[in-house]
Amino acid sequence: MPRKFHVFATSDIGEALDVLRQRGYELEVYAKSEAPPQALIIEKVKSGIDGLITTLRDQIDAEVFEAGKGHLKVVAQMAVGFDNINRADANRYKIPFTHTADVLTEATAEFAFFMMGALARRMWTAEHLTRENKWSYWHPYLPFLGDEVTGKTVAIIGTGRIGLAMIKKCNGFDMNILCYDPAYQNHEYVDAIQEVKDLRLARGITKGKTWIKYVSFEEALRDADFISVHVPLLREGESNTPTYHLFNERTLRMMKPTAFLVNTSRGPVVDEIALARALREKWIAGAALDVYEKEPLPADSPLRDPVIEDRCRLYPHFASAARITRLSKDPNKGMAGRCVQGLIDVLEGNYGSDITKMPYVVNKEAFGK
Ligand code: NAD
Repeated sequence: MPRKFHVFATSDIGEALDVLRQRGYELEVYAKSEAPPQALIIEKVKSGIDGLITTLRDQIDAEVFEAGKGHLKVVAQMAVGFDNINRADANRYKIPFTHTADVLTEATAEFAFFMMGALARRMWTAEHLTRENKWSYWHPYLPFLGDEVTGKTVAIIGTGRIGLAMIKKCNGFDMNILCYDPAYQNHEYVDAIQEVKDLRLARGITKGKTWIKYVSFEEALRDADFISVHVPLLREGESNTPTYHLFNERTLRMMKPTAFLVNTSRGPVVDEIALARALREKWIAGAALDVYEKEPLPADSPLRDPVIEDRCRLYPHFASAARITRLSKDPNKGMAGRCVQGLIDVLEGNYGSDITKMPYVVNKEAFGK
C-alpha cells in the first residue's frame, strides 16, 4: 500500500481528480472559480503537501518552493505553457514540474485557425449587422466585404507542436506557408506538407501550385497576409531569442497594411499599446487575440477602443477550451488527465523514480546524473 499523499489543487480540474481520490490521496481543492490568493497557496504548501496542482493563473516561484522545503515533491500544471512557473527557482529547489503538452495541440491550432477565419471574413461584424436588424439589402459590396483565407500566405511564428498543427490546418485551405523558428526547424514535416501540396495539384484537388518554406523573421513579417503566433513566452535572459514584445511598433510596422495578426500564444508576446495604435492608424488590417498582457483583459484596455472594434477580435484565453481537451481524465486526451498523471508519476515513482524519464516533467535538466 503506497503511503497517503497530500495534494492541494489551486482549481477544480474536474473528474480527473477522482483518480487521485480513488488511489487514497488526501486531496484539497480550492473551491472558488477565481484563482486563490498567493498567500493561501503559500499557506497550503507550508502545511506539508507532497504535490501541488496549478493552472497558469498561479505564480509559482522561490517563495512557494521555500514554503515546500522538505516535503513538496512536484508541481503539476494543467497547461502546456509554464511561464508562470520560475524554472530557475524550481531547479534551485530541485522540484520537478510537469505540464500537459500535446493533448491540447489540435484544439489550440484549430481555434487559431477559426480566429483567423472569423477575423478575415468579418463574421462578428456580419452577425451584429444581422442581429441588430441593420441588414437592409443584398449588395455586391455594401456595407463591407471580407478577405478570403484560401490561397493566401500565412506565416507561422514558432514551429513547435501547435505551430506544426496550424500548418496542417492551413494546408487544407491551400495556403502558402512561411515558417519561422530560430530554435527548432522541422524540415521533414515541411517537406511532407510540400509533398501533400504537390499531390493535391497533381490530382486536380487544387488548381494552383502552393508552397511552404522556412524564412527569416523579417521575410515572414513582410510577405504574409496572415501571421499566427505559436511561441512560448520567454523573457529577456530566458532565451537567446526572447519572445517578450516580439510584436512591437517596429515589427508591426513591417507587416503589410492588408495583413492580419493572430495570437494564441501568450499576451506579453505582443505589445498591446503598439498593437492598438497599429489598428487605429491602420498599419495592419486586423488582429485576433486569445491572450493578453494582463488577464482578464482590463476594462480600460486600448484594445477595447470602439474605433477598432470591427478589426479587433478578442477571446477569453479560450483556444484549448474544448470539452475533451480540457477535462478528459484520459492522460492521452485531456489536460486534466495528463496533469494528474504527471503528478502520479513523480509521487509514486513511476519510470523507476527516474525523473529524467518521466514524459510530462519539464525541468529534467535539474535531475540528470
Ligand atoms: P512548443 O514548445 O512545442 O513550440 C514553441 C516553439 O516556439 C518552439 O519550436 C520554439 O523553438 C519556438 N520559439 C522559441 N522562441 C522563438 C522565437 N523567438 N521566435 C519564433 N519561435 C520561437 O510549444 P507548443 O506546445 O507549440 O505551445 C506554444 C505556446 O502556445 C505555449 O508555450 C503556450 O504559451 C501557448 N498556448 C496557448 C494556449 C491558449 O489557450 N491560448 C493553448 C496552448 C498553448
